Amino acid sequence: MTVENKSVGLLDRFSLSGRRALVTGGNRGLGLAFVRGLAQAGAEVAFVARDHERNNLALEELANEGIAAIAFDADITEKSQIEDSIDWASEALGGIDILVNNAGACFHADAFDVPDDEWDAVFDLNVKALFHCSVAVARRMAKSGGGSIVNIGSMSGLIVNRPQNQPAYNASKAAVHQLTKSLAAEWAQYGVRVNAVAPGYVRTEMAPVDRPEFKRFWIEDAPLGRVATPDEIAPSVVFLASDASSFITGSVLVADGGYTAW
Ligand code: NDP
Repeated sequence: MTVENKSVGLLDRFSLSGRRALVTGGNRGLGLAFVRGLAQAGAEVAFVARDHERNNLALEELANEGIAAIAFDADITEKSQIEDSIDWASEALGGIDILVNNAGACFHADAFDVPDDEWDAVFDLNVKALFHCSVAVARRMAKSGGGSIVNIGSMSGLIVNRPQNQPAYNASKAAVHQLTKSLAAEWAQYGVRVNAVAPGYVRTEMAPVDRPEFKRFWIEDAPLGRVATPDEIAPSVVFLASDASSFITGSVLVADGGYTAW
């Protein structure tokens, strides 16, 4: 066997050919990059998000790149809409092998000033919806022989961001990391792996990375000296979704340009 042939065998493990994936919050930012990356790795991909127009715009953008995805309008903080989304995706794709829990929200506020409704909005989406989506999909995965769940955590679950205060978000992402480990341990017996990716700052609508007051802390505090683009985080999701990570479960893969090293 030539060296070239051997390397094809290894790269095959990263392939998602024949896999069916569902991404939450897939109409922009990181979620859209994950839809694109999973599809480029060979998966059939569905996503859910609330905004019908933006869902269609994302589908159009993908179609222009030759990627056929499908979308469902749903607010995943409503449990009934989670059930509807998962029923829809399972039927449309013929099953779900990969779930990427990406939808998330962040507000900047000092702890003394955090309104209850903002605290609840962050935890309802970042933690509770992620939990309910995971349970609903893992039930099906357990029956069909397994699957891979990738949660989008954050370096905010590991460090405290500055100069902005965001206590609810930081606590919610620490919860995502610990929930990842908890579900991984519980569902290993069903062949369901559960891992998380913890990105640093990424240029999306959520993160105003170009505001001058943030440069000193967001850019200069990262050893790589820059923020990421969403497509730089997608390969980590593909890796954890694929058989290339078959012995990895309960892990948090940090993709932060070295931010948490300092
Ligand atoms: P965006 O705000 O750009 O996108 C959020 C996505 O979630 C949108 O597609 C949005 O669509 C969807 N969404 C929001 N609320 C709901 C809901 N109730 N039901 C269904 N979908 C919903 O965020 P990012 O792309 O920046 O972030 C994606 C993930 O990555 C989040 O979990 C975030 O915490 C995490 N992250 C981001 C970092 C960054 O620097 N950007 C760094 C570290 C982690 P719609 O509004 O149409 O529903």
